[in-house]
Amino acid sequence: MSSDTIESRSPQDPDEVVQVLPAADRSAVAGAVDAARDAAHGWASGPALNRTQALTAAADELAAQSERFADLMVREVGKPAGEAAGEVARGVGILRYFAQQALDPDGQTYPAPDGTSLLMARRYPHGVVGLITPWNFPLAIPLWKAAPALAFGNGVVLKPSPYAIGCALELSNLLDGVLPEGLFSMVAGAAEAGEALVDTVDAVSFTGSVDVGRQVALAATGRHIPVQAEMGGQNASLVLPDADRDAAAASVAAAAMGYAGQKCTATSRVIVVGNPEPFTEALADAVRGLGVGDPGDADTVVGPVISEDARRKVLDAAEKARADGGNFLTGGRAGQAHGHFVEPTLVTGLPPDAELAREEVFGPIAAVLPARDTDEAVQISNGVRYGLVTSVFTRDLDRALELVGRLDTGMLKVNAPTSGVDFHAPFGGEKASSIGPREQGKAARDFYTSTRTITMSPLGA
Ligand code: NAD
Repeated sequence: MSSDTIESRSPQDPDEVVQVLPAADRSAVAGAVDAARDAAHGWASGPALNRTQALTAAADELAAQSERFADLMVREVGKPAGEAAGEVARGVGILRYFAQQALDPDGQTYPAPDGTSLLMARRYPHGVVGLITPWNFPLAIPLWKAAPALAFGNGVVLKPSPYAIGCALELSNLLDGVLPEGLFSMVAGAAEAGEALVDTVDAVSFTGSVDVGRQVALAATGRHIPVQAEMGGQNASLVLPDADRDAAAASVAAAAMGYAGQKCTATSRVIVVGNPEPFTEALADAVRGLGVGDPGDADTVVGPVISEDARRKVLDAAEKARADGGNFLTGGRAGQAHGHFVEPTLVTGLPPDAELAREEVFGPIAAVLPARDTDEAVQISNGVRYGLVTSVFTRDLDRALELVGRLDTGMLKVNAPTSGVDFHAPFGGEKASSIGPREQGKAARDFYTSTRTITMSPLGA
């Protein structure tokens, strides 16, 4: 690959090139933003029903092409086939949901001080929104940003991860077919293209790692434009002594290892309250029972990680955990020779401040940490810089309700896996996991529009 092209390869078969595109330079990024800005004027000032119809048409088209999109996702980012099909279905749902939101009330009226004037607050789009996205949900994340941005009258330029340009190109082609020319486009590129986008758009929505998110937020704030950044997690599942052991073990195993742990909502820390042994054994059994291998096989739960760098990072984290005194209940080694595979890895015996327990690895590896009681479990859970999502497994409703208020987390699940996102509810984290307003659900309008307060008085009043 030369520096003026961007290439994606299949993680399960790195010899297979999936997509090659020219890398967008600064002027190409500026051109895409100018075209979106031109198109956005008519889009925002035209009937809202046009936006509903266009997004509904996009949903219909995606539903019609769902198999093709799912196959591409399996090939390009190694997502297990069942999850890939689920992600396409979710993309269709997101488009339909925000298609209807275009018709929601776009403001409020207030009692005017003089009793006759009209005092109101109305929401307006920003202009062009830049979307910078990771590779792990190559369809759902671009769509959960683009659908509300478009529904509320913005133009959009998407800069996807270099690992997922094939999926982004297909999405861009699909949207091109139903939207006014230039309103949505994608630019292929790495950090430079992302920086160029932040320098030219009217608002930025980012999803990715903490370090890059912080840079993006600083650059956007420096330009006085709205920014939201959804970033990493080091999510804990707290297992209380009264939990349904086997159900909790199955749930935690899938949340930790599904899609090779490459979800921002994956469980990376399993905090077991009381005697840890019985649950830990059940968890190790559940992990051993997961289907590992070719993501195209219907039974596969754990496919490859995205790249050789990612595989190295997981193996280095395992080595460091071993040096820190960790015992391996499962895995700890590379998987099959061809492709970026790592065995699902569970580590016990580490202190809560060991690196594996503190920092996101983004692979199929998790630490099991014992806690004397729930107070200590809360302390361990809150003792990291992240705060995206936390699960609690218990049958005690009072205890669950008490923990809801004590855990530093944007999302809390009781008897449910940390992984899994509901596109109609607010989504986002606390602490280093998030900057700016929540994404998705009705919360999305807050980010993709700004409020203007308008007073209209009768002349001469
Ligand atoms: P990443 O931060 O490496 O890249 C994210 C995007 O930023 C890519 O498009 C990349 O090209 C771009 N980028 C890189 N440098 C940039 C710069 N200087 N300026 C502007 N853009 C730049 O993340 P990734 O490896 O693609 O994804 C994995 C990370 O994403 C993990 O940390 C994971 O937790 C996180 N993630 C978070 C969520 C969430 O909603 N909280 C969802 C999925 C993934």
